[in-house]
Amino acid sequence: MFDVKKIRKDFPILKRIVNGKPLVYFDNAATSQTPQIVIDSIVEYYSNYNANIHRGVHTLSQEATNAYEEARIKIQKHFNAEKSHEIIFTSGTTHSINLVANGFTSLLKIGDEIIVSALEHHSNIVPWQMLCERTGAILKVISISLTGELIIEEYEKLLSDKTKLVFVNHVSNTLGTINPVKEIIEKAHSVGAAILIDGAQATPHIKPDVQELDCDFYVCSAHKLCGPTGVGMLYGKEEWLNKLPPYQGGGEMIAEVTFKKTTYADLPYKFEAGTPNISGGIAFGVALDYMNTIGFENIEAYEKELLDYGTKKLLEIEGLKIYGTSKNKASVISFNIKGIHPFDIGSIIDKLGIAVRTGHHCTQPIMDFYKIPGTIRASFSFYNTKREIDIFIAAVLRAKQMLE
Ligand SMILES: *Cc1c(COP(=O)(O)O)cnc(C)c1O
Repeated sequence: MFDVKKIRKDFPILKRIVNGKPLVYFDNAATSQTPQIVIDSIVEYYSNYNANIHRGVHTLSQEATNAYEEARIKIQKHFNAEKSHEIIFTSGTTHSINLVANGFTSLLKIGDEIIVSALEHHSNIVPWQMLCERTGAILKVISISLTGELIIEEYEKLLSDKTKLVFVNHVSNTLGTINPVKEIIEKAHSVGAAILIDGAQATPHIKPDVQELDCDFYVCSAHKLCGPTGVGMLYGKEEWLNKLPPYQGGGEMIAEVTFKKTTYADLPYKFEAGTPNISGGIAFGVALDYMNTIGFENIEAYEKELLDYGTKKLLEIEGLKIYGTSKNKASVISFNIKGIHPFDIGSIIDKLGIAVRTGHHCTQPIMDFYKIPGTIRASFSFYNTKREIDIFIAAVLRAKQMLE
C-alpha cells in the first residue's frame, strides 16, 4: 500500500523549517529530494571502500568496481536494455546529449536534416545547434499546439529521406506534457532516422522500457529521480554506440596507447574517459531500487491524484491561467496570475517556506510561444501531499492579495 506518511520519513530534508515554516518542496522538476538510504550509500562508499575502479588489484578497488558495475546492471534492468554495455555512465542528461551530438559530427553532411521539438529543454536544443554549425546540417522544429502538445501532422511533414536524427523529450519539464514517444519513434524510423529521447523529466514518474519503445538513445539524470547530482546515463543501442566515435579521450577509455596510434576500449568504457563519479553511480542504483520498491504504478497513480487536486484548486483562483493542458500530463503545473510577475509570487511564497520555480525553466522557446516572460512552476513528487497543496494555495492567494 502507498503510505505517504511513511515515505516522507525516508527523506530527512522534508523535516526542514524554511523561513520559520515547514518546507513545502514543489520544485521536483528541477531536482528531487534524496532519501536517507541513498545518502547512506554515499557515506558508506567514502567510509568503507573508496578506491578508484577498474584499475587496482587491491580489495578496495575490486569492491568499488563491483558496486559500480552492479549499479550499471540495475540501470540496465530498470530500463530493460538488452545489454549492460548499452548503458553509459555520464554526469547527467546534458552530458549524455552532448556525447551523442558530438558523435554525430562525423555522420552528418551539409544539407542533412535533424528534428527537434518546440517543447525542449535548452540542453536538448543547444548541443544540436552546435552540431549544425559544425556540419552544415539543418535544424527543423516540430511546433506545438496551445495545449502544449506536439503537432504530429507537422512532425510528419518535416520527415523525409534527408532526416538523419530526431530528438524530443518524453515529458516536458515546463508543461508536463507526456509525449507520444512510441509513435514519434516509429515515424522517425520509417524514414531511416535515429532518435534520441530526453527522459530527464519522464524518469521520475514513469518506468520506460527502451526495447519496447525501440528508441536509439535514451538519456536521464539521477538527481531528478531521488539520486545524487553529477551522474546520469546514456542508453544507446549497441549498433549506434559502435558507430559513434569516443567523446572524450583519456584514461579508462583506451585499449592501447602509443604515440603512433591509440585504440579504444570496448563499450561501455569507450565513452567513459577518466575517473567517474563512483559514489554517484552506486547511489544512482540505490535510488532506482528505492523507487522500484515504492513502485512506479503507485507513484504514477498518486502523483496523478496530486496533479488533479492541484489543478482544480489553482483554477479556483481568479485570473489564474495554466500553461500546458494536455490530457496526458505528468505532475507539473506551470501558471501565471493576470497582471502579476511570476517572480514576485515565487519570492513571497518562499518567505512562507514554499519552494517553486519561477522563470523560463530552461525553455525559452515555450515562453516565446505563449508570449510570456516566465511562469510559476509547481512540480509534485510522490512524497508531496494534498495538505501541502492546500498550504501552497493559501500562500498563492496571500501573495496575490499583496501584489494586486
Ligand atoms: C532537467 C532536464 C534536463 C537537463 O538535465 P541536467 O541534469 O541539468 O543535465 C534536460 N531535459 C529535461 C526535460 C529536463 O527536465
